[in-house]
Amino acid sequence: MPDVVVIGAGVVGAACAHYAARAGLDVVVLDRGPVAGGTTGAGEGNVLVSDKEPGPELDLAVLSAGLWRELAGLGGFEYEPKGGLVVAEDDEVLAALTALAAGQGVEHTVVEAGRLTDYEPHLAPGFAGGVFYPQDAQVQPMLAAATLLRKGARGAGRGTPSLRTGVTVTGFLRDGERVTGVRTDRGDIPAGAVVNAAGTWGGEVAALAGVHLPILPRRGFILVTEPLDEPLVLHKVYTAAYVTNVASDSAGLETSAVVEGTPSGPVLIGASRERVGFDRTVSIPVLERLARQAVELFPALAARRVIRAYCGFRPYCPDHLPVIGEDPRAPGLYHACGHEGAGIGLAPATGHLIAQALTGGRPGLDLSPFRPDRFDPDRSGTGTPAKEG
Ligand SMILES: Cc1cc2nc3c(=O)[nH]c(=O)nc-3n(C[C@H](O)[C@H](O)[C@H](O)COP(=O)(O)OP(=O)(O)OC[C@H]3O[C@@H](n4cnc5c(N)ncnc54)[C@H](O)[C@@H]3O)c2cc1C
Repeated sequence: MPDVVVIGAGVVGAACAHYAARAGLDVVVLDRGPVAGGTTGAGEGNVLVSDKEPGPELDLAVLSAGLWRELAGLGGFEYEPKGGLVVAEDDEVLAALTALAAGQGVEHTVVEAGRLTDYEPHLAPGFAGGVFYPQDAQVQPMLAAATLLRKGARGAGRGTPSLRTGVTVTGFLRDGERVTGVRTDRGDIPAGAVVNAAGTWGGEVAALAGVHLPILPRRGFILVTEPLDEPLVLHKVYTAAYVTNVASDSAGLETSAVVEGTPSGPVLIGASRERVGFDRTVSIPVLERLARQAVELFPALAARRVIRAYCGFRPYCPDHLPVIGEDPRAPGLYHACGHEGAGIGLAPATGHLIAQALTGGRPGLDLSPFRPDRFDPDRSGTGTPAKEG
């Protein structure tokens, strides 16, 4: 019998499995599809501290940024510690941006308007200034997830996680309230503990255990340009409007381009945000808006072709915080889901904290802001209030 079954082979499930295996646990990872076949395969790969308000998500992001730097040593996936440049459209926005940076307490440099092109020579003129965050980085999320699964223990612990794809979890084994394994379309798997890392489907999986997690899909599109001969965009670059969009509760369409080059040449332009269920219909107006915003940042992109676009569904939680930790309503079931637009960045810290919880260790961060029962009406007043948008 495995110590742990992890449901979901996205980047979060992979990180949970990786750190649990490193802690010496015997881990089985199940996914109904392939590795990174969920939202992980549709992400952009930003590992950002720059866009987080001070508070629990920023604490998680700072921990995770450091862990990604270590994990990059495993090799097997692109990791670029290139830094992020946030630019302000006018003086008022710049004042808000610099105030945010001062409050975040993370390493940053305020950049005067006249020095912006020292960072990005091809940036459009006219921005009032910006803030550079050296800790912002980029990972290729699909290969990162695969690597974390393949190189689980790397000498420590009992080995690499065992992976079973094409297996759908349909229910839970119980001993009273306690979760003692999973039911699947390929048979039952008893386990010491179960981790729900089912991303946008984390609420559905939780419901199989009779517990409520209000995770909803928030759609996003990304544009990919043809490969460029020479690097045009050196860092992650976005306007301050992105920070507002990320924190918004609106179900309506929001776009603010995050532009970045990749080692293989194409420029990635992401991303839109809208709550339209699981609708995959390509929206030309959304793609046009993203392209226009990218050209407003880098006019030279106007002469480059877009070769493809893709979309995915962020696991949106009403208070914008992920769900991390054991569920007191179903002991033995741990959740690691609901990371919305930051699951790639936050995956290692999530996996690390889940492994600590699974092994009875003291969590390196206070998990109470992420606790699974915080949305229950009878828990109101004891934590972050739910703000269903
Ligand atoms: C357009 C876009 C851009 C983004 N850009 C970024 C970015 O730059 N940086 C960042 O940090 N984040 C970004 N994100 C968000 C990020 O992609 C997600 O937060 C992250 O991938 C979630 O990973 P996950 O492992 O939790 O979920 P997933 O990758 O969705 O994995 C969940 C897995 O669970 C499996 N599953 C579900 N139900 C079952 C079941 N019953 N039985 C078995 N398996 C099941 C699914 O098949 C799936 O593979 C972006 C998202 C989008 C859509």
